[in-house]
Amino acid sequence: MSSAPTQAGGRHRVVVVGTGFGGLFATRALRRADVDITLVGKTTAHLFQPLLYQVATGILSEGEIAPAVREVVAKQRNVTTILGDVTHIDVEARTVSSEHLGRTLVTPYDDLVVAAGAGQSYFGNDHFSQFAPGMKSIDDALELRGRILGCFELAELAMLRGDKHEASRLLSFVVVGAGPTGVEMAGQIAELSLRTLRRDFRHIDPSTAHVTLVDGAKQVLPAFGDRLGEIAQRRLEKMGVEVILGSMVTDVDATGIELKDVDSGYVRRVESVCKVWAAGVQASPLGKQLADQTGADTDRSGRIAVLPDLTLPGHPEIHVVGDMISLDKLPGVAQVAIQGARFSAKQILRRAAGQPTEERFHYFDKGSMATVSRFSAVASVGRLRFGGFVAWLLWLGVHIVYIIGFKNRVTTLLHWAVSFVGRGRAERTITEQQVFGRQAIQQLESMGQDPERLGDSRRA
Ligand SMILES: Cc1cc2nc3c(=O)[nH]c(=O)nc-3n(C[C@H](O)[C@H](O)[C@H](O)COP(=O)(O)OP(=O)(O)OC[C@H]3O[C@@H](n4cnc5c(N)ncnc54)[C@H](O)[C@@H]3O)c2cc1C
Repeated sequence: MSSAPTQAGGRHRVVVVGTGFGGLFATRALRRADVDITLVGKTTAHLFQPLLYQVATGILSEGEIAPAVREVVAKQRNVTTILGDVTHIDVEARTVSSEHLGRTLVTPYDDLVVAAGAGQSYFGNDHFSQFAPGMKSIDDALELRGRILGCFELAELAMLRGDKHEASRLLSFVVVGAGPTGVEMAGQIAELSLRTLRRDFRHIDPSTAHVTLVDGAKQVLPAFGDRLGEIAQRRLEKMGVEVILGSMVTDVDATGIELKDVDSGYVRRVESVCKVWAAGVQASPLGKQLADQTGADTDRSGRIAVLPDLTLPGHPEIHVVGDMISLDKLPGVAQVAIQGARFSAKQILRRAAGQPTEERFHYFDKGSMATVSRFSAVASVGRLRFGGFVAWLLWLGVHIVYIIGFKNRVTTLLHWAVSFVGRGRAERTITEQQVFGRQAIQQLESMGQDPERLGDSRRA
């Protein structure tokens, strides 16, 4: 492998794109290195996505799972943090262009780590997103919190007006996608209605809320195998969640969702105002951009085929990690991003020192877990497959370890005690901006407002 040409006379320049697991762990792995790091992210926070569903259902606050990345790396003197949306990477000129409010910054690099992750995919039906928000960002989680809790409020009003039909439509929740996120969301909406809200209303009975979990696959949690899928499904059904498998979503509108049975072709409609989309991912478009310039392939989800050492053909200085990559069928999980980031950081150190690099990244599968409800989870660790309370305790421990910052760990534990031992939820505040902000921004964009004018009007 070739060594790195560092800028004449200067320190080795590393640009890291993305402040998620890949970006942050690569940056931290270079903390003692004699390099200058520029960390570019389009949000100011490091988001711990696995706990997004707890923000959406009022257990945790957004600050607990998304600390300011600037604060996280404050003591790391070799890092400059930049807020910006990376719009272009020029692999020949070795520059990264990022934009913020219409202004462009071009940053040169000697080594580049791209960890821009993946967004939600509606499988070509992006218009569904208007009625069924996804679960990828803090904005998504807060919007969903507003929609979920808002539906209980509106149902109470509907009952006061004597409109039972409207109330039952408002108390019907549909979660699309029976992977870990969908299972966790369905379980938490059920617990919210059965435990937290049960005594808070006078004209509706929140415990009669109906939660439906839908998936085109024939089992819940397909990646966990039959047995754990069945355990999770049984637990959900015990809480009253209706599980509809082997059904594809064919349409979504403001008041319902249309499903088509994969085998029989039978089409049914489920009346529901609040829908959650937890199915399908699409890798960052930066993957396609890099593929076009380097001759690498991309798969159906837009993930870029990296070489075994996580670099791109002819470009040992470009390292791609995390959800964006396609290599050996590695799953889109945090550990793939973290281990890939640490591996790439070591490669960068070797390149900067003119030493030979490793030829292959080896992923160590530490296992996977998903919670179904309080005190109940499923876990797959090595050859072990187990569910129930022990799996839940393991889930709890692992997540506490990976939450960033001592303060966040303490408050998260407190909030978990409030929600899991007691009935409460510390974060039930909802605002109209959370519910309607995304649509308002989309409307502004479609009206041709350019971001610079938006920025000017906010500053005015
Ligand atoms: C709801 C949910 C639950 C999950 N649960 C689990 C779980 O229980 N266990 C598990 O192992 N994994 C889980 N995952 C998957 C895990 O979170 C991802 O695999 C992991 O976050 C991938 O890390 P990454 O660095 O590749 O991407 P991300 O963590 O998504 O980070 C990408 C970063 O890039 C930034 N970015 C994107 N585009 C640009 C751009 N153009 N310019 C600048 N910055 C950009 C984003 O703002 C973000 O900071 C879950 C994911 C979700 C969405």
